[in-house]
Amino acid sequence: MKASVVDGYPQGNKMKILIEDADASQINALRRAIIADVPKMAIDKVMFTLGVNQDNNRGEIFESVNALPDEVIAHRLAMIPIPTCPENSIVAPNDCPNCMDMAEDDRGCPMCQVLYTLNVQGPSADSDEPYRVVRAGDLTNVSDPTFDISAEMQPIPITYLAQGQFLEFIAFATLGRGRDHAKWSAASAVTFQPRYEAELKKPKKASVLFDLDLKTSDGRAIDAKLFSNKKCNDVSTVLDLEKALHQVGHGTGRDTDFDEAIVLNKVDGSFVFSFETDGSLAPEAVFNSAIEELKSRFSDLGDDLGRAFA
Ligand SMILES: [Zn+2]
Repeated sequence: MKASVVDGYPQGNKMKILIEDADASQINALRRAIIADVPKMAIDKVMFTLGVNQDNNRGEIFESVNALPDEVIAHRLAMIPIPTCPENSIVAPNDCPNCMDMAEDDRGCPMCQVLYTLNVQGPSADSDEPYRVVRAGDLTNVSDPTFDISAEMQPIPITYLAQGQFLEFIAFATLGRGRDHAKWSAASAVTFQPRYEAELKKPKKASVLFDLDLKTSDGRAIDAKLFSNKKCNDVSTVLDLEKALHQVGHGTGRDTDFDEAIVLNKVDGSFVFSFETDGSLAPEAVFNSAIEELKSRFSDLGDDLGRAFA
């Protein structure tokens, strides 16, 4: 199996990888490993402060009532991407040398969890603001600064607070895997498709497509210049051509004139693999981690088989 990043990627958290010398089942194993097996940080436990607070300066009363139930806030917190560096020394609570032998409720130490606090009050009674939005950026990280919520994720809204309301909690993030809960899934839209090469068979009839003035995703005109020796095998360009061909396909009224002037030929054993991370991990790290997960699984399987047949 050979893997290479498609030109122009990663784009932010999006990744496209060309995989050659592989079959669909191997790529699907990789897809499943990315969804379910790559470890990632997410908020797993939240302890809310309930009650009434008095603002000492003004004597104003704030109550821990909220537009959203605590469960919904906890769910929204779980979905906030927590920076996860593979080099971080954080381990999953089940693998933590301090906690692995404890009851589940007692687990949690600096080696296996990251702490965030939040304490926000709604607008004061004489304020013109009717409400205040609580955002991911209001979370204060009290552990290693590498786990600070990234600037890109800070505007994520969590809830609204009206006058006289406050929200206070401690949240614990742990390392987990997507197979246990979707909040620990490192990437979404994990897909693959066969790789195609485009062939310009009838240059004159292809003008039905070229005259539509369509553009590729990087802004080049879709015309005969995309082909050299009547072939186009650049991965991104072929994907753009594939999309453009829908404009001259069956049901468009142009298909008779176009007459399959451009055809897509499948490249055996070659796939375009794509996914987008939630921002907790870099796309390269997700891919490498999935490969490592598969490697260790198959070497374990190999050992087991070796033992079984010994
Ligand atoms: Zn621990």
